[in-house]
Amino acid sequence: MVMKELYVKIGCAMLAVCLFTFLFVFGKDRGDLRPVFSHSFKVEEKVNAILKENEAKELVANENIKNKFVYLAFQDGETFVSHFVDATTGEETDFTTYLKSGTEEAFSKKVEELLYLKYPKFIADVLNDANLPKMYQVLETELVIHYTSDSLRSLISDSLYLRVNYNDIKDYLDFPVSLDTEYEQEKGYALDKNKKAIAFTFDDGPSGALTNRLVDILEQNKAHATFFMVGNRMEYGAEVIRNVLNKGNEIGSHSYAHKNMKRQKLEDIVSGEEKTKEIYRNITGQELLYTRPPYGNVNKSIKETLDTTFITWNVDTEDWLHRDKDYIVNHILEHVSDGDIVLMHDVYETTIDAVEEVLPKLYAAGYQVVSVSELAELKGRTLEKHSLYRSLKEVE
Ligand SMILES: [Zn+2]
Repeated sequence: MVMKELYVKIGCAMLAVCLFTFLFVFGKDRGDLRPVFSHSFKVEEKVNAILKENEAKELVANENIKNKFVYLAFQDGETFVSHFVDATTGEETDFTTYLKSGTEEAFSKKVEELLYLKYPKFIADVLNDANLPKMYQVLETELVIHYTSDSLRSLISDSLYLRVNYNDIKDYLDFPVSLDTEYEQEKGYALDKNKKAIAFTFDDGPSGALTNRLVDILEQNKAHATFFMVGNRMEYGAEVIRNVLNKGNEIGSHSYAHKNMKRQKLEDIVSGEEKTKEIYRNITGQELLYTRPPYGNVNKSIKETLDTTFITWNVDTEDWLHRDKDYIVNHILEHVSDGDIVLMHDVYETTIDAVEEVLPKLYAAGYQVVSVSELAELKGRTLEKHSLYRSLKEVE
């Protein structure tokens, strides 16, 4: 009798060992969704506690990532919440725990680079703060970083997040990820047909340091503009012209000598335009596409004769008259709407100061500030030669 019981006990023990070994060997590698066997209880306990604590929120992810960590994500209205539980210890951790040791700085640098690529400087400066609360979303081929900023929340209604493709950070991750083979390079900020857009235009330049400062401000705010330059000033501004173009802006003609076309002989207007085009061609190797007649003055025969597209404006800041930053800022904010073309002059310090202040406000109000060509593209409009456009609204 005693011997028989002993055999049964030994039999059961062997069976248990076999089962344990089976689960340990096969359970470990197979289950991406299964906590590691030897610590499953601690991990499960922690995961359950987190689930309970967030039960009012919608669970959007509950995954064991390669037996490194359990990743839990919840959606609570607009807010995204994530938790990381170490699959070995059952301790609650943070995404940055799963960066290879010594790569934390390189990872932060990459994130910083992508932030400034996607967002205007005034937003990237805030989001780039290491102490700002962040939530990490671990997706199939990318990491999404969600940001919470009280100072920006009062300005911007859009949620603030950064998509980071694993191709860009694969060397820093301490867990295997699947890579999107189609991915080439993050392009950052992109124009959006579904968002409001207005064109900024600047007349009477190029204006040396003022124009260059304006170009920097536009660049920092992910904005572009069309510069209507005077032919006889272009000759002395070749460097500025190249800088304007290099930063994604465009240039049109503002006549050769800023004369009122309505008071000029047609042949003088034509020769002035030809001269301006040639100066521009010599500097850039490109053609001028648009003309803004000085004072917006143009008549039927000028339109029929000049081989160009005429661009005027429908929002006049009168910056030349007021020379007052606050006046210009308020005038723009109170008057612009989708499809507008705004007139300013890059020859006054107050205008440049106003642009610096108004661009973040326009971004926050959901506007894209673009060149005339970009506005036409966003609005699906083809700009015809011998025609005049005051704005690119659906109905002018
Ligand atoms: Zn002018």
